[in-house]
Amino acid sequence: AGGRSAVTAEGETVCPFCSVGCRVTLHLVDDRVVWAEGADGPANHGRLCVKGRFGFAYLRHEERLTTPLIRRADAPKDPSHGLRGAEVLSLFRPASWEEALAHAAEGFARLRDHHGPSALGVLGSAKGSNEDAYLLQKLARLGFGTPHIDHCTRLCASVPPLTEATGFAAVTAPIEEIAHSDVVLMVGSNPDMNHPVAASFLKGALRRSTKLILMDPHAQSLSRFASHHLPLAPGSDVALLSAMTRLVIAEGLYNKAFVAQRLEGFEALRARVEPFTLDVAARCSGLAPEVIAEAARLFAGARAAMTFWGMGASQHAFGADNIRAVIALALVCGQVGRPGAGLHPLRGQNNVQGSCDAGLLPNYLPGYRSLESAAERAAFDEMWDGHVPSAAGLTVVEMLDAARRGTIRGLYVVGGNPAMANPDLAATRAALASLDHLVVQDIFPTETTAFADVILPAAALAEREGTVTNTDRMVQRVKPALAPPGVARPDWLIVRDLAVRLGLPWEDVTVKTLFDEMASVVPALAGFKWSRLVRDSHARYPLDSADLGRNSLFADGFARGPRALIAPLDGPGADEMPDADYPFILMTGRLREHWHTGAMTRRAPVLEALSHEPRAHLHPDDLARLGIATGDTVEVRTRRGMVHLAARPDPAVRPGVVWMAMSFFEAAANELTINRLDPTTRVPEFKFCAAAVERCASP
Ligand code: SF4
Repeated sequence: AGGRSAVTAEGETVCPFCSVGCRVTLHLVDDRVVWAEGADGPANHGRLCVKGRFGFAYLRHEERLTTPLIRRADAPKDPSHGLRGAEVLSLFRPASWEEALAHAAEGFARLRDHHGPSALGVLGSAKGSNEDAYLLQKLARLGFGTPHIDHCTRLCASVPPLTEATGFAAVTAPIEEIAHSDVVLMVGSNPDMNHPVAASFLKGALRRSTKLILMDPHAQSLSRFASHHLPLAPGSDVALLSAMTRLVIAEGLYNKAFVAQRLEGFEALRARVEPFTLDVAARCSGLAPEVIAEAARLFAGARAAMTFWGMGASQHAFGADNIRAVIALALVCGQVGRPGAGLHPLRGQNNVQGSCDAGLLPNYLPGYRSLESAAERAAFDEMWDGHVPSAAGLTVVEMLDAARRGTIRGLYVVGGNPAMANPDLAATRAALASLDHLVVQDIFPTETTAFADVILPAAALAEREGTVTNTDRMVQRVKPALAPPGVARPDWLIVRDLAVRLGLPWEDVTVKTLFDEMASVVPALAGFKWSRLVRDSHARYPLDSADLGRNSLFADGFARGPRALIAPLDGPGADEMPDADYPFILMTGRLREHWHTGAMTRRAPVLEALSHEPRAHLHPDDLARLGIATGDTVEVRTRRGMVHLAARPDPAVRPGVVWMAMSFFEAAANELTINRLDPTTRVPEFKFCAAAVERCASP
């Protein structure tokens, strides 16, 4: 309306929709975002994907929460199905901040005093700022006194095996290092869907001369750029990677100097991979032995190779083993610690890295300082003038399981939506409905707010001050591009005010004091100051002596010591195999247009127009065999539940697999998924359970 001349304001922020961390300029007309364009940020250099370009309309969607809400006394908590939006709002009455915060605090204090601190849990989010995450974990540990603090990174954790190997909980080299790689290994990731701007830089490198080895059960848009696409059978990652490692060792192609000087666990690895001959791997993966061998030789022969992995590898009950097998191959080939070589778990949400650094985790204090260390706990006790719980707490899914058992009775959910994001939604809703006291802080009335006793309206990232850290260890400052709607407030401010009502003397806390305190206790942030970010707007950690931020880490030594560790595997396989009753494998994932549970992107009209309904993606041969035509309504059923949705023929999907996106509440994929956790990462199994597919009778 009126074009550029009608713009009344401009503001810059960081895109909230993935961990690439693109900087965006928002153009506003009368307080509404009318268009967004890529700013010259350190991660995107002017580029944006479709979500960054068209996703910001959610900021002024009519369903934004604008005032605190308290549940009506006569409003039931019905776990039989999900509610959202206006259906949720009808269960609540508006309240002042004073009344809502008093009600929220009184409920937590009552449960803490009657049932003990461990009756409380806190679920944060990787969508907020570093300051939000830091203050929330501090409130949980000091104000609530509970060890049960976690956040949605748990649903995609791909870092623990990297930490185990290197002692460092972040990428060893950023995405831009692919400019110096001659080979890229990509395992269980579809960046063209999930990290599109990163994929655009990758495609640039591939167009020049870099070779791509792509391990993914399905074809994807990057497949045509790959020199080797390995469409392995679901669940065969360890067998395939072990066979590649075995061949590299057997043919003497491994980096002998690196193995001798910088690696621990090589002989155990050699013994472990010995049974995985090419024939064994071929039988497990369905791939030709010579293709596996070619890919292994290409990777081992690379001058410099970057190794990426994503949620296709991690979101399994055996995800840690998948990643250990990836890391083992990269390490025996010495592909770390120099330009173009590095290990890179592609993170999911925008501030996964920062919220983990801040200690929003049940097993680590800020900066990954060990909760098991009495000295570390004592240091935090003294610094915080309180008492840090000594035991590790429960994780995201475990907290909901504890709620169902009645041992967790009060929950504070900040920016998360477990009633859409957790596996086995019927069980998750039952857990949420059973809580004595649930406070949910969010920007929209999500499926989780339907079970709240108090809803606290939060400001979106574009509406406040703070910092976020992207997948490449880049810390960026954000400033408010527009004001929050109604009386919505930044998360850290709500947390602070709740803490004050619980007796903590935090009245003077600000974004600046929070960032500076976090930087002082997180070793990787040594040298960072709020004033520096005000001056420079961004910096990558760790800062080097020239204060520029280093790209490729571990040219010599690792954070854990002189040698990286090749850890043994935990050994579990898939928990629920297909059978006569449930003959398909259900895999879930994401679409380019939508982000996670869809709470934001499905309220952006352009994105919703591009992708507005759930589909069951099946191979055309499976559809033909079942007598299902394109667009027919099918029932997808597992032992947990069923959903109805349209069938879509998709030759990219393997025969025997049904693939669904996780963002559609109308047919929520997590009604079907299974609550099984990886023994190391405690990540749930989102990509492998047995399912049945049937055509629904015509109405
Ligand atoms: Fe946003 Fe990620 Fe797209 Fe960049 S690549 S615009 S951060 S969704």
